[in-house]
Amino acid sequence: MTPFDAPEFAGHEHVSFFTDDGTGLRAIVAVHSTVLGPAAGGCRLWPYPSTAAALADVLRLSEAMTWKNALAGLPLGGGKSVVIADPSRRTPELLAAFAGCVERLGGRYWTAEDVGVGIDEVEVLARHTRYVFGLQHSGQKTGDPSPFTARGTFRGLRAAVRHRLGRDDLDGLRVAVQGVGHVGFELCRQLHEAGAKLTVADTNPAAVARAEAAFGAIGVPAASIQDADVDVYSPCALGGTIDADTPNRLRARVIAGAANNQLAHSAIGEALRARGIVYAPDFVINAGGMLNAGCDILGRYDREDVLRRIDLIHDRTLEVLARADRDDVSTEAAALAMARERLRTAAGAPR
Ligand code: NAD
Repeated sequence: MTPFDAPEFAGHEHVSFFTDDGTGLRAIVAVHSTVLGPAAGGCRLWPYPSTAAALADVLRLSEAMTWKNALAGLPLGGGKSVVIADPSRRTPELLAAFAGCVERLGGRYWTAEDVGVGIDEVEVLARHTRYVFGLQHSGQKTGDPSPFTARGTFRGLRAAVRHRLGRDDLDGLRVAVQGVGHVGFELCRQLHEAGAKLTVADTNPAAVARAEAAFGAIGVPAASIQDADVDVYSPCALGGTIDADTPNRLRARVIAGAANNQLAHSAIGEALRARGIVYAPDFVINAGGMLNAGCDILGRYDREDVLRRIDLIHDRTLEVLARADRDDVSTEAAALAMARERLRTAAGAPR
């Protein structure tokens, strides 16, 4: 299958396939848009069952980065990369081979961490290409994006709760968090400090045990997290978990989490709306890490300014939800319309 034939193809500017015989590297870099600036987005290392599955993921993820960066007000475009490999094969040599591919793109695409690629791996990549962001704290480098992503997600969740449940106070609010990894655990911390009651699920039992011990969370089996009797469902694991069953099954009236590409397909946004479930679009509320790490690309870092911009996610989420109500469309459609407006304005503006 060529990228043009993939259902996820959305006018991407550039899609590159890379192989390396020596390390067995198989990687795809997708640049969705550079209208606002160089394409920026992390690298996911995952044992995809097929090249078509990897292509579908990278096309969707890179497009979402365009909308995320646009709505965050960043002068950056959207891109993403995937390395098709089992994490047990994540050797320095494989990472170096991938970094060489990014370098060859000459700054059109900047890479960073994502699922399967942590901060340590990003440091390895940075030894072989200049086009890496989200590096460890050293000088002006920005460090692990996860706490910043969690901060923004918390602000977005708060806005969605205010919009749907009419309350600013989170004390006693019941929240089910799916995936208590880097972002999910930090989000749990903020929710716990605000008085929320947590239900958590993770395919890794140790992660559940950690959240139970730290926050008094109640662990439930991964397959039943959407059935939990809660006010808010917060997907913080992988994408696509909100599927055709979710609108009927979910007891929560608000969905607000950090995972990328949460809706299995966009029609589910309409079904959620019809059931009175408010979905805070992932690419609106999970931009905190990008707002922080993007400073590596822009070459200036002012932590206070970054935190101020992350906190604006609260009001931006309210704006998106109000627009969805006004235009009688899904919240995702409203957010996309706002992001597209920003691209159109930038494309028409003198360079
Ligand atoms: P992570 O790998 O640290 O955490 C993910 C957690 O989800 C892991 O603990 C994993 O065991 C668990 N998990 C996997 N499948 C699951 C399932 N079916 N049910 C329950 N738990 C499951 O990743 P992360 O950095 O915390 O990112 C989480 C999500 O947020 C990803 O979708 C990522 O793309 C997105 N995101 C992360 C950032 C960031 O700053 N790290 C920024 C934007 C978006």
